Amino acid sequence: MTEEALDVMVVGSCMTDLVSQAPRLPKAGETIHGHKFFIGFGGKGANQCIQAARLGAKTAMVCKVGKDFFGDNYIQNFKDNGVNTDFVGQTSDAATGAASIIVNSAGENAIVIVAGANMLLGSEELQNALPAIKQAKVLVCQLEISPQTSLLALQMAQENKVKTIFNPAPAIPDLDAAFYRASDVFCCNESEAELLTGSSVVNVEDAHRAGRELLKRGCRSVVITLGPQGCVVLEAEESASKHVPTTAVTAVDTTGAGDSFTGALAFYMAHYPTMPLEEMARRANRVAGVSVQAVGTQASYPLRKDLPAELL
Ligand code: ATP
Repeated sequence: MTEEALDVMVVGSCMTDLVSQAPRLPKAGETIHGHKFFIGFGGKGANQCIQAARLGAKTAMVCKVGKDFFGDNYIQNFKDNGVNTDFVGQTSDAATGAASIIVNSAGENAIVIVAGANMLLGSEELQNALPAIKQAKVLVCQLEISPQTSLLALQMAQENKVKTIFNPAPAIPDLDAAFYRASDVFCCNESEAELLTGSSVVNVEDAHRAGRELLKRGCRSVVITLGPQGCVVLEAEESASKHVPTTAVTAVDTTGAGDSFTGALAFYMAHYPTMPLEEMARRANRVAGVSVQAVGTQASYPLRKDLPAELL
């Protein structure tokens, strides 16, 4: 067990991305030659945890991987990024979560995700982590593990006055109302806001409207990210919905930008508990804006030393 209180605990997923680049996507039954293969570290939970750790948060990941090469490799990746692995379990009952991705020369892809060990994370592992959760400053969850496990983790944190960030991704229709009540910050992107509210979200105005609808469901605040347009922020105590624009950058790969944003938000909430949410969102926009200027998911996430002092 970790001795010192943690800044950020993430209860969520780990996925190994197996990426093949080929001239085109194969048809059923066909074998074709690709020209490049690489393995990447992904999974929304792990991505967010690693971004928070790279900014300097004392982090721990609560997750489950397989007792296999990819699981061992992922644990090493957490250690290399300074993430506490006391609550990373390994199971023989399922393989480490994996995403097999084929990308064609037009940049289109075909992806098969097998969540595997991620779905075996349950209440027993949360009970083991409870002493650390009680002392943490912020707990973050998403929906790439069993929704019951995510909800239980958020509720455990809330009961112990630990701030919660819930990122409802990938979004599921008819999300249990208890998720909203267990969220200090309900942080989603445009398509998730659209699926959850049932109305189209394509611009800032739509996001204000969707944010007001989500706020009514019982969360303390809502952040909706809008790609190059930054995000909107709404808080239960304030009537205004605020647009927080971001600096224009030349994006080369936006994969995982939302996770960089959420991980950064968790870092700011832990380090600056009295900072206005709008300012945290402004800084998280800048961090995520750095991540889109490099290729890869975790590979593109900035370290503390890469950022200007005004963002730390
Ligand atoms: P992904 O699914 O690719 O991880 P997302 O759809 O969840 O991303 P976005 O809303 O696209 O998340 O982006 C998250 C944040 O990243 C934005 O709020 C913004 O701060 C930053 N961002 C994304 N794209 C750009 C861009 N082109 N220029 C500047 N910042 C960007």
